[in-house]
Formats: sequence, structure tokens, C-alpha cells
Amino acid sequence: MDAFLLGHEVPVRLGAFVAIFAAMAAWELAAPRRALRERKPVRWTNNLALVVANSVLVRAIFPLAAVGVAGFAAERGMGVLNIFPLPYAAAVVLSVLVLDVAIYLQHLMFHAVPLLWRLHRVHHADLDFDVTTGARFHPLEIVLSMLIKFAVILALGPPALAALIFEVLLNATSMFNHGNVRMPARIDRLLRWLVVTPDMHRVHHSIDPRETNRNFGFNLPWWDRLFGTYRAQPRAGHDAMTIGIEQFRAPRELRLDRMLLQPFRADTGAYPIGRSRGAAR
Ligand SMILES: [Zn+2]
Ligand SMILES: [Zn+2]
Repeated sequence: MDAFLLGHEVPVRLGAFVAIFAAMAAWELAAPRRALRERKPVRWTNNLALVVANSVLVRAIFPLAAVGVAGFAAERGMGVLNIFPLPYAAAVVLSVLVLDVAIYLQHLMFHAVPLLWRLHRVHHADLDFDVTTGARFHPLEIVLSMLIKFAVILALGPPALAALIFEVLLNATSMFNHGNVRMPARIDRLLRWLVVTPDMHRVHHSIDPRETNRNFGFNLPWWDRLFGTYRAQPRAGHDAMTIGIEQFRAPRELRLDRMLLQPFRADTGAYPIGRSRGAAR
């Protein structure tokens, strides 16, 4: 099973990305949640150019993806689950949970350490919130988060299947929970016990630091409730709330060249956790 996965990891991940992206883009056209502030062709061209650049960069720097690192750990008997094996299904479920809480903690750290916030704020500087925002990250943040993920995988020793499930899931839920899509409030309330919904994650893209420092989860919504970082709705409501951060509000900041330089320009203001009055309230 795991050997098969190692050979088919790229088409599985790419196929899932294209299918879910297309589904979310269609849903956004059919039932948008908010009117977009900026012109879609400009934002989409630049956001997607960043995605392509990041994918090429990751392929060039890292010979192995997460699935490959899991296979490497298994071959050498590295990681807790390779030293103390569990039944296969239990190991897969536990690994996905551990990887998810690790990503939650990593996201929290990128909001807490001012230097890391400078990288992560490129994701938050988008002036609208839609499926392309979900993949808009600075290349340095992508490289750092890959290194953190690899370290977690080497320490944990998950089955390769768990690493693949997690990668596909993270990619899929990130596109889903950044969707500018409308769904009945009743469905949203039920769904957010299982997965982070667009309304839940939109709170995290509010310009108000008290809301930016909420709802850090990407897949499972449980960590925010468990660790006290959950906020159900934005104060201003979903239609009236302002998306983005105080810095970089000119439309030209949506261009790829500006995004790449944003970590090195402007101050961090009240955004890093601990710096904002009331961030933890
Ligand atoms: Zn964030
Ligand atoms: Zn986001």
C-alpha cells in the first residue's frame, strides 16, 4: 500500500487540487457570500502565479514530499509510531490528528512571533477572501512550514497513507474554508463541528487584530475550541466586515512583485499576538 502511494503521490494531489478548485470556483459564481472588492482577473492571476511559483520552488528544493519523508522514516525505523507500532488504521487516524494539531500550533506561532508574522501576513493582506486566498502564501513561509512538517513526520513516523491523506485534506479544506460561498446558517452551524467552514475562517481574515488572532484551525475546528481561540462570527457581520490588514491596502499590493516584498516592508502594528491590546480576549 505505502509503496504504491509513493509512486502515485503527485497525480493524486494534483488531481484533488484541480477538482476541488474547480468545484469551489463554480460554487463562488453560483452563490457568492460577499461582493468582491477588487477585480477578480487581477487577484486571481497574481494569487495563482504565486501558487505556481511556490510549487516549482518546493519541487526544486525538496527531493521528497511529506509522503516520501514518511516512507524514509519507515525504512529507517524512525519516529514514535515506527518504534511503537499501532494497528494500521489507528496509526493513520492518530497521525492525521497529530499533524493537524501541529499545523494549528504552527499557525499560532506565525501569528505570535513578529518576524514570522511578517511572512504570514502576505496571506492576510489579500483584500478579498476567496478560493485563491487559500493558496496565497509567501514562498519563505511555504519552505518553513515544509521543514516543520518534515520534522513532525520524522518524530512521529506516520504511515505514508496518513501523510498523503493529510496533504490532500489540508489542501482541500484550505480551498473550501477560504471559499466566498454562501450556505444556509443551519448547515454551517452543523458542519463547523466537523470541519472549519468559510464563515468560521473568514473571521480570521478580519482587519481587527482581535479577530485576526482567532480561528487558527485549517482542517479540524476542535483545536480552537479546545485552546480557547474560537470566535463564532465577526463583530461587524460577514457583509460589513473589512478583509485584510491595516498595512498594504492599495490595490497595487495585490501584485505578485509587491506580495514577495511585503515581509520586508512596513511595520507589524498591533497584529503579533501579545502586542495587540485585547488580542487574547
Ligand atoms: Zn493566519
Ligand atoms: Zn486564511
